Amino acid sequence: MALSIISHPDCALHDTGAGHPERAARLSSIQDQLLASGLDWVLQHHLAPLASCEQLCRVHTPEYVDKIFSLAPVEGQVWLDADTCMSPHSLAAARRAAGAAVLAVDLVLAGKAHRAFCNVRPPGHHAERDMAMGFCIFNNVAVGAAHALQAHGLRRVAIVDFDVHHGNGSEDIFRDTPEVLLCSTFQHPFYPISSIDSASEHIIKEPLPAGADGAAFRATVSERWLPRLRQFQPELIFISAGFDAHIEDEMSQICLTTSDYDWVTREIVAVADETAQGRIVSTLEGGYDLPSLAQSCVAHINALLD
Ligand SMILES: [Zn+2]
Repeated sequence: MALSIISHPDCALHDTGAGHPERAARLSSIQDQLLASGLDWVLQHHLAPLASCEQLCRVHTPEYVDKIFSLAPVEGQVWLDADTCMSPHSLAAARRAAGAAVLAVDLVLAGKAHRAFCNVRPPGHHAERDMAMGFCIFNNVAVGAAHALQAHGLRRVAIVDFDVHHGNGSEDIFRDTPEVLLCSTFQHPFYPISSIDSASEHIIKEPLPAGADGAAFRATVSERWLPRLRQFQPELIFISAGFDAHIEDEMSQICLTTSDYDWVTREIVAVADETAQGRIVSTLEGGYDLPSLAQSCVAHINALLD
């Protein structure tokens, strides 16, 4: 069955300013690599819809959603934190990025696609219930997971997050939601300086020290994520797909290679095939070195296709 790829031109219009690492060329580098690899023609392309206020308010407070809508500038930039800004097209981009996850869930659960990848920005996993941070405005993967639970009635979904930064926003949103198993690896100590204490058995946090390589990452995933995922029996698996742990990405000091992203995706696919009828919704988080981002992301998409 088909793999859907969901994006929208608005996502490229989110202007973060000169020199900002979270830039529009990230999306086009992935799209160009899909074309060069020959994969593009087998994908089902969809335009991301705008997430509605109701969909956003499943994971964010109404006050926060109102604030983001009212802060959206007509010209110039508004800074939400030291790293995260809004320009005139940012609200639409952020709503499309979250809406992509909603459409992905609808397509996959309707059987119209086997799996889906959301090639969108801004990323989402740092956005907390009532706070933007770390380039993130709305928590895209969380909006998708909440849609699966509340609109489709699923009872167990998993979010797997291999971005090099801890997904503090996803943890903040689902801390008291045992229907969501959250498995992450991340460099520690590192931004956003999260506590590594896990207070609940549905939040699996695996810190990796600076310098950790693919062998350390694979051992952690094999020993800590995969048994818990199989025990949890998710009906749908989400991936917060960040590629900033790549050795070529200067954002971090973790030393993964493209083959590690291929490997981890295939392991997640194997779990999904066992417990979730193969269903996976993946959404782009970080990854700032364009060549390694494009190669790793296309390896990830290729592994989702198999
Ligand atoms: Zn990151």
